[in-house]
Amino acid sequence: MRGGPIRWTWPFMKDVIVVGGGAIGLFCAVRLRQGGARVWLLESGHEHPTYYTPIASAAAAGMIAPISNEPSVHATVALESFDLWRAMRRGAEWEDAVRFDGAVVVRPSQAEAAAFVAKAAQLGRKAQILSAGEFRKRTGFRAKVDHALFVEAEGTADPLRMLTGLGMQAHALGVLRFYDTDVWEVTATTATTHEGKVFEADAVVLAPGVWANDAMIKAAPALKQVRAGKGMLAAVALEAGLGPNLRAGEIYLAQRREDVVLGSTLEFDKFDRKVDRAKIADLHSAAERLLPGEVTLTEQAWAGVRPMSPDGWPMIGPNGEGVLLAAGHSRDGWLMAPITAEIITAYVFDNEIPPEWAALSPERFEQS
Ligand SMILES: Cc1cc2nc3c(=O)[nH]c(=O)nc-3n(C[C@H](O)[C@H](O)[C@H](O)COP(=O)(O)OP(=O)(O)OC[C@H]3O[C@@H](n4cnc5c(N)ncnc54)[C@H](O)[C@@H]3O)c2cc1C
Repeated sequence: MRGGPIRWTWPFMKDVIVVGGGAIGLFCAVRLRQGGARVWLLESGHEHPTYYTPIASAAAAGMIAPISNEPSVHATVALESFDLWRAMRRGAEWEDAVRFDGAVVVRPSQAEAAAFVAKAAQLGRKAQILSAGEFRKRTGFRAKVDHALFVEAEGTADPLRMLTGLGMQAHALGVLRFYDTDVWEVTATTATTHEGKVFEADAVVLAPGVWANDAMIKAAPALKQVRAGKGMLAAVALEAGLGPNLRAGEIYLAQRREDVVLGSTLEFDKFDRKVDRAKIADLHSAAERLLPGEVTLTEQAWAGVRPMSPDGWPMIGPNGEGVLLAAGHSRDGWLMAPITAEIITAYVFDNEIPPEWAALSPERFEQS
């Protein structure tokens, strides 16, 4: 350009509103901003969550567990998200909130343990059968446990430290964050608060967890499919710290930054966050059967409400009136948060959507 003033242009600059500041909304806000968008994050709650804040992300165990027993067409996307965790963590404000110590998985028989190892290998990940002695070495427990295996590709993110760290990262990147801001209505390009303030942008990302209101469901009807899945966790004391996660059927133990948690229950269509001590006692009994006398309950227990989708996988992509939906993350919201942000960013910038990402579109339920 000769003569006139130099104008810096951002050829791909987009304005994006993200509604919801849980794990999903925060990861989306950060990633969109890193991709060059101008981002408004609107969150009805406070900036500093605790276990008792009514959002799933704060209550979670935080396991980043991409390999499970269940066969799924989405297994490779889960692994992609796990790899993104490792890549994004370096130098991030929340670097110290995440550990990648793998997992010890207990299965009912040697054949099932071998099948899990084979599945991990098929997905290109390392796993090995553990003898009873190796189980003790890996976990620090004294119990004799047969039919266990160790899988490398697993970790844990400390949810509260993550939420704070993601908030700091968003702030440092210049995401415009509005807390105590309850969104009433959305369209493909606007979000209107209860007070009547209207935000306008090129795209609106909806990440309300299980808390979508009727106006949001009208704009993005797939949200109707999201059911409440109440879950309870308890903090436990162990003689020695736990390294890898321990998963055994319906229970698990996960070492976070400052505690070890025992989880978890699942009750559909329950929105309350009351702790039922009898159900915590059931979790503890299951831990006792596996590891007699080695897991002690503390006073601390809490509940959260997961946004459950019909197939347990998130709904990511355009829906209804053109709103971008990032919802229904079920039991794996922390695991799937980075890939969700990646996919949403691709939709916002009109990038190519590979078939395995398109398979997570909310439309999949309409087709079925
Ligand atoms: C007991 C338990 C254990 C779990 N363990 C794991 C685990 O080990 N690993 C794992 O990957 N996942 C786990 N999960 C699941 C995971 O926590 C969820 O899938 C994930 O947190 C969902 O994140 P989200 O951001 O969609 O929802 P939320 O965390 O609920 O966030 C939604 C946000 O949207 C805001 N919002 C809603 N409506 C509005 C509005 N109108 N205006 C403005 N803001 C609004 C809410 O205030 C909230 O902050 C667990 C969950 C529970 C309850």
